[in-house]
Amino acid sequence: MKVIDFHLHIAPLGRFTPCAQGYFRDNNPDFCERFAGDITPEAVIEILRAQGVDRGVMLAEYAPDCSSVITNEYTAEFCRQHEELIPVGALCCYNDTPYVEQARYCVEELGMRGFKLLPSYQFFFPNDPAFFPFYEYVQSRGLFVMYHTGTSIFRNTRIKYADPLLLDDVANEFPGLTMIMEHGGRPFWYDRAAWLISRHENMHIGIAGMPVRRLPEYFPRLEQYGNRFVFGSDWPGMADVKGQIKRVLALPVSEETKEMILHKNAERILARAR
Ligand SMILES: [Zn+2]
Repeated sequence: MKVIDFHLHIAPLGRFTPCAQGYFRDNNPDFCERFAGDITPEAVIEILRAQGVDRGVMLAEYAPDCSSVITNEYTAEFCRQHEELIPVGALCCYNDTPYVEQARYCVEELGMRGFKLLPSYQFFFPNDPAFFPFYEYVQSRGLFVMYHTGTSIFRNTRIKYADPLLLDDVANEFPGLTMIMEHGGRPFWYDRAAWLISRHENMHIGIAGMPVRRLPEYFPRLEQYGNRFVFGSDWPGMADVKGQIKRVLALPVSEETKEMILHKNAERILARAR
């Protein structure tokens, strides 16, 4: 089956904070050994292929206190000429350029296909009206915003900003904005994320970094809302992407739902761009 991995953090090991590096060393020693100094698109594509992934979303981020700085420019350049890799932009909160201008530059100059925000790593409330012009623009372009929701193991993250319920405001203000709650509010806000996808048609759950086998327990209406779950691995934070795909294929849901989770929902989200 075709697979799109909607959640990859691609950069050489040295670009990550010491805490993140320690986590990668424990969970993906091969990555640390191979990519201590540099990493290339060809090598990443080869790894994805070997893991059974056809295309991957590469996420930029500006979170120097918690995880890493992977610039929009680096991300766009890395993915250029490689249609297997899909570049997703980030907002820099310590840059004076207005968010909407940063977004326009990402989309119109760099060719970014959507955005990832890390409220608990960048210390902001995602329903702050300061972000509304940005949301307005992203909505007008048919693009998506994905959010880290729920806990993190990285030091310095402030979890109060990662409550999925904050996104209820955004979904109400921007009903045409495609929103993805990564990690589904893990672990103590799963019920909030479940309620949000039932309330707002534009909301989705990214399953990266979640115990896939337990999805039916956390989201009893997984089948009914099969069109809202998006596969991702969080590589290199975990090495066995293949195993994660296998666990999706073993879920007690229809083949159609498995296909939606592994690639069709991602394709539909990407195809909305205008
Ligand atoms: Zn991640």
